[in-house]
Amino acid sequence: MARLDAVPPLAIARGEGPWLIDMDARRYFDATSSWWVNLFGHSDAGLHQAIAKQAGTLPHVMLAGCTHAPAVELAEGLRALTGGQLGHAFFGSDGASATEIALKMSAHFWRNQGLPDKCEFIALAGGYHGETLGALSVTDVPVFRDAYAPLLRATHLAPALHEQGALEAIEALMQQLDGRCAALIVEPLIQGASGMRMHGPELLADLRALCTRHGVHLIADEIAVGCGRTGRFFAWDHVEGQRPDFVLLSKGITGGTLPLSVVLTTDAVFNAFLSPEVARGFLHSHSYTGNPIACAAACEVLRRFRETDLLQQLPVQAEHLRSAFLPLAAHPRVTGLRQTGTVLAFDVSNPGERFAERFHLAARRHELLIRPIGATVYLMPPYLLNEALAGWLARQVQAVLDEVLAQAPNTGADPAHA
Ligand SMILES: *Cc1c(COP(=O)(O)O)cnc(C)c1O
Repeated sequence: MARLDAVPPLAIARGEGPWLIDMDARRYFDATSSWWVNLFGHSDAGLHQAIAKQAGTLPHVMLAGCTHAPAVELAEGLRALTGGQLGHAFFGSDGASATEIALKMSAHFWRNQGLPDKCEFIALAGGYHGETLGALSVTDVPVFRDAYAPLLRATHLAPALHEQGALEAIEALMQQLDGRCAALIVEPLIQGASGMRMHGPELLADLRALCTRHGVHLIADEIAVGCGRTGRFFAWDHVEGQRPDFVLLSKGITGGTLPLSVVLTTDAVFNAFLSPEVARGFLHSHSYTGNPIACAAACEVLRRFRETDLLQQLPVQAEHLRSAFLPLAAHPRVTGLRQTGTVLAFDVSNPGERFAERFHLAARRHELLIRPIGATVYLMPPYLLNEALAGWLARQVQAVLDEVLAQAPNTGADPAHA
């Protein structure tokens, strides 16, 4: 992303745990996990070791006609985490490519069933699924989309799940599309890029039932919310019973070390592509598909979830975050304090001009790297919180907020605090 920016970039020299250290040896707490990718902190020894070992054994080999241990181990590890329900993994290189893969695979699945017109997609208002053309087509965040709108394929937009009557509207849209809808794509539990908008897991169970009833694939984009952010490994683990037809993982899957994405899917989808006919096969490749070093890092991430008490620790860390930020709920300019797992967000009323930029700059002076989305301040820290650190974070955020708001006095016109 390039724009003429008033904010000079920080020159970061190294990372240590949750801290980033700049060239002048100043430190910043990485409160957004470097755009939601980091899990265990920076320069994690286990990840470093896994990467170094793989780099010295087999840095790369094409995944067409060849396979290798890290790819197999990763696919099997993820399969196990879905209770065998999503037993097939297709590798991509980043989040956006995972979205592209799932959309193509869904439409091609229906084509292989003799339904070539079943190729429309439903996306939800405020959803974010990446910025390549296909992914942007199902993204509804104007700042990323508007300049490229003429290049994009039309998508059918339904209300986001936290909006009243969303499921009824989605069902109406499916009926209107009359069998031509291939898939619906959703960010489960948290819509990230449009401002950390949250909904409960019970809506996901209803959405699953709706998709099944209308023969529509359900694509869960867990690129941001997967890998433990919501307190379980998958956000969908909060839903009892059935799973989506596709789950997309990226970002945290390598602990924030290397680009990799994975599209997980079912036997039914996999089997639809098994054919000697080339036209029925799923042709999608990237040069670095299933890169062994990236897969080795991801295997280390899975090992951490499997062999340590991380999944027991996450709710404890979430509770530290909750209790530390609780006093902020009484702040006269704070509304909508909300949390899912270790993701915490709130909105600022009457934020004033260029709030996000002013907050970001003030935060830097308080040893915090944090980038609000509009007037929404959020934290998505690495999984290293203890009570003291959570308390420090809350105090810093409060100080930054008061400093920034002192420059934008409350006009008193805000209905939320009238
Ligand atoms: C970040 C993100 C993407 C895109 O991933 P990239 O690796 O940036 O292409 C897609 N979906 C969601 C929900 C994301 O948060």
